[in-house]
Amino acid sequence: MMLRIPLEEVVARIKEKSGLPEEEIFRRIDEKIKLLSGMISREGAAYIVAHELNIKLFDSISGRVQIKNILAGMRDVETVGRIERVYPPTEFSTQSGSGRVASFTLADETGSIRVVLWNEQAALADNLTPGCAVKIKSGYVRERNGQLELHLNSRSKLIINPPDEDIPEIRRAGPSERRKPISELKDGDSAQIFGTITRVFDFRFYEICPECRRRLKQGPDGFVCDVHGPVSTPNYGYVLNFFLDDGTGTIRVVCFREQVLQLLNISEDELMKIRSTEETLAELRNALLGAQVIVDGSVSKNPGFDRIEFRASSVNPNPNPEEELARLKSQKN
Ligand SMILES: [Zn+2]
Repeated sequence: MMLRIPLEEVVARIKEKSGLPEEEIFRRIDEKIKLLSGMISREGAAYIVAHELNIKLFDSISGRVQIKNILAGMRDVETVGRIERVYPPTEFSTQSGSGRVASFTLADETGSIRVVLWNEQAALADNLTPGCAVKIKSGYVRERNGQLELHLNSRSKLIINPPDEDIPEIRRAGPSERRKPISELKDGDSAQIFGTITRVFDFRFYEICPECRRRLKQGPDGFVCDVHGPVSTPNYGYVLNFFLDDGTGTIRVVCFREQVLQLLNISEDELMKIRSTEETLAELRNALLGAQVIVDGSVSKNPGFDRIEFRASSVNPNPNPEEELARLKSQKN
């Protein structure tokens, strides 16, 4: 199950629907854990207890939510916020036809999330500008590259400047307040860092579905999308990691598609042309060594390696030298 509901919420839901006292619910959860020889989390055991009592957990978490409370697997999500950034529609095509996709980032006072508009909904992006108030109804949540996205399909509604809502403007920290020394970064921070690239790792390319951008699996007869079936001409996703050093510390920066293109300052077409020429890729990587870049993004823990990483949301490969010098001087005084 993709859905992750905190244990307290599951227990509260069971209590509300079954009328059982909390102690009894926890007793049943512990009993399940014992029965399954501890091979299950408390949340997992709580799901099973709810299931046995015929209690649906899903509809308890649809409806109006603040952005920070949006969870993977949610459906029928309603939320409101202000637009931060708009990514205009682009075309894609597959053997089953063509379509359009657009997206924007939506923020409220609790956080921000990327909202993805498919096909007929994508045209709505033309009417969106940063700062615009919007209400979303019946969105569904998908997780991609470890980040949550709110997707809109033909059933979903996007209402611009909803008349029945008072949506506050969002005051986000300005660029100077976001800037942090690498040594002070902690898991969960959203920040901007500036430093020198000291090591660049190999490019990694992987096949994705042209329609939904999910990662494809290699089947016996070629690539397969979980949702769209066999894909004869896949698109490619890609990752590039590098170390950034700012004198206070070093951190691994993880760049996906858009950030890779920003960093290299090339188009996706150009990158796709040289995708399989190792030499050219090596030249690109070497050219990055010693470069000074500004990276915006967030810090997260890589569970596999017990280290923190900086997941880039945007990369500026050409910082203004005068601005950076002025900043350095003001820090010393
Ligand atoms: Zn697909």
